[in-house]
Amino acid sequence: MPSFSSDVKNEMARLPLQKDCCERAELAGLLRMGASLTLGAGRALGLAFTTENAAVARRALVLLKQMGSVRTEVMVRRSRRLSKTNTYFIRVLPGKVVSAMIAEMGLSLENASPEGKKALFRKKCCRVSYLRGAFLAGGSINRPEASCHLEYVTTSYPFAELLHSLLRRLGFPAGITGRKEDCVVYLKEGDAILDFLSMLGAEEAATSFEAVRNVKEVRNQVNRLVNCETANLGKTANAAARQVAALRRLATGGGLAHLAPGLRAAAEARLAHPEASLSELGVHLGVGRSGVNHRLRRLMELAAKQEVRCAGER
Ligand SMILES: [Zn+2]
Repeated sequence: MPSFSSDVKNEMARLPLQKDCCERAELAGLLRMGASLTLGAGRALGLAFTTENAAVARRALVLLKQMGSVRTEVMVRRSRRLSKTNTYFIRVLPGKVVSAMIAEMGLSLENASPEGKKALFRKKCCRVSYLRGAFLAGGSINRPEASCHLEYVTTSYPFAELLHSLLRRLGFPAGITGRKEDCVVYLKEGDAILDFLSMLGAEEAATSFEAVRNVKEVRNQVNRLVNCETANLGKTANAAARQVAALRRLATGGGLAHLAPGLRAAAEARLAHPEASLSELGVHLGVGRSGVNHRLRRLMELAAKQEVRCAGER
């Protein structure tokens, strides 16, 4: 069964290309996350990009093609395992154009051009595209039935910080943490993940995420309600047990005989029906729930007074 992560990536990887600026930004995010630098003749730089997702490999090739005279080679390693996961290797052959592109996209630390990087993130549309590219190459998301969690994993701390600040700038409550050798940038709130999916264009994924979340929410509400009712039942039962115990003591002290008829009837009804709710006792007594409540409270006071008296006589 394909994971939700791959559903999301398949959908994002098939979005139509829209603007040159965003194509560049998405490719930069994709390569920064998933590619490593290679060195050719004359210190010219090239790239090697690896992915197990066919749609992502195709997306990378399409985006690279938009960059002009960039030469690429593709290799597929077919898996012998039952899972049938292929691995796609894309090589961008070293050359002057590629070296310039790498510098402009901030893919190499030495050659990073601050102006190029600034241009990459100036517009919101490009920041969103960069996050999409990086997600395609190294993001993952829990299936909606599980706990809400979406993350980027990278070994580079500066890159993790960049993703974190881009998410924050877009208003997402992103967190950043370490896991073994890796840096993890994550989102944990369902609403944030929903906004993220739809902002990055994965509308179908967002719709199914929301549908499952609504089901979960209703189930939680039902559970809360049931727990609440159980707690109330517990309280009622405890109160009834206290009343029965107090009335028994009152009766042993001979106290019932001296009671006003209304109070006496209430005491007898409670003793005869220890499990009944106030409303049920009310039916027996021909009075309302609050009337029963009042009488039982009065009886409890009398029982308490009698105990005080008994304690004083001892
Ligand atoms: Zn743009």
